[in-house]
Amino acid sequence: MSNKFNFMATSDECIKCGKCIPVCTIHQVNADEVTSPRGFIDLLGAYGRDELELDKQAKDIFESCFLCTACTDVCPNSLPTDMVIEEVRADIAQKYGIAWFKRAFFTLLRHRWLMDIMMKLGWVFKTCGFKQEPKKGGMLPRFNLPILKADRLLPSLGKTSFLNKYPKEIKNGGTRRVAIFIGCLANYNYTGIGDSLVEVLKELNIDIFIPKKQKCCAAPAYFTGDFYTVETLSKQNIEYFESFIDDVEAIIIPEATCSAMIKHDWEVFFRNRGMDDWADRAKELNKKIFMVTEWLYKNTELKELLDSKGINFEESITYHDACHAKKVQGIEKEPRELLKSNFTIKEMSDPNRCCGFGGVTMQTEKFHLAQAAGQPKAAMIKESGADIVAAECSACRMQISNSLHQNDVDVEFKNPIELIAKALKEK
Ligand code: SF4
Ligand code: SF4
Repeated sequence: MSNKFNFMATSDECIKCGKCIPVCTIHQVNADEVTSPRGFIDLLGAYGRDELELDKQAKDIFESCFLCTACTDVCPNSLPTDMVIEEVRADIAQKYGIAWFKRAFFTLLRHRWLMDIMMKLGWVFKTCGFKQEPKKGGMLPRFNLPILKADRLLPSLGKTSFLNKYPKEIKNGGTRRVAIFIGCLANYNYTGIGDSLVEVLKELNIDIFIPKKQKCCAAPAYFTGDFYTVETLSKQNIEYFESFIDDVEAIIIPEATCSAMIKHDWEVFFRNRGMDDWADRAKELNKKIFMVTEWLYKNTELKELLDSKGINFEESITYHDACHAKKVQGIEKEPRELLKSNFTIKEMSDPNRCCGFGGVTMQTEKFHLAQAAGQPKAAMIKESGADIVAAECSACRMQISNSLHQNDVDVEFKNPIELIAKALKEK
């Protein structure tokens, strides 16, 4: 019970206005005050005052938050409901332990060499256990397993990971140099993202540094309360980034969740535990960390280059605002500006509504909630009439691709950098 001060401080600042309730993803799925931001904060205040025990019911309630930050975005006091829930999940993990399959997954995240072997084995044997569905951008299990049902679309596996495919240095004859932080899903699963990013940087004559020793950003562990893994991975990454940060213009990341974790949550995590030296080091690095579309739009001639192509593809796009892009990092204009040079954008009715990914627990034990939150997103993508849905986040991609599949919506998912690379290839 290490975090009571935080819980009570947040609870004391809640003025009970209820502005957060209509936007709350879990409240939209389960309309109960207990599973709303105001309800969570109230319970956390009681927990901080020793008036609430972390029993199984409390555990179940706190694990039902999607950590989407929609509440923080509208709260007049900017109360960090997602962050205090991440903190209480650490206490839950201490009291109840973490399920074996999540511990196994976080062990793989801490040891990339082991993850590389597992993913390679997965690629070799994937056709035994899964039907490949390339048009849907994933694969379906051949059998019903306790967590993985046969109708659930999962990300497929690439033959070679991004980090193993490319050399450390890619010279594009330029005077500028950036580093790429790729993220685990783009490294192993959605490998077209990294390929596209390399192609785009080549077109812009920007040299590429691929830091081979980069580790997972630790977001999956942070959302699950495994703070040992968060501390281990973020410290290793910080020390590694510091070793090359002065030699690159930026570290660019084609993933909203990874960049939000690195740019925002690492500092918060260390600050909350009184490790101010590490928090300051994370903060210093932040100056050079950007999502890919933000950096390319603000710092290169890419927009002019795309405009000069004079192409307007037949396929139209609807753009989903990943929570960790728009709400956490304020990025919404940049990807749209780049895409609209060559594609028609058909906005969905609420591009800001959370897709319902929610993290490892939501995607496993509480998958019924992720499915319920995904259904309205799939419906609004269909209603937009677009051929492609784009978002700069592979967690959203995993969730939305499955929601589209399970709701019979025939729309393809792409990361914006894949669409930009396609436009640049046109003569
Ligand atoms: S983070 Fe999202 S799901 Fe959790 S309380 Fe806030 S709005 Fe609701
Ligand atoms: S919007 Fe903020 S202050 Fe208002 S009820 Fe929600 S958490 Fe409390």
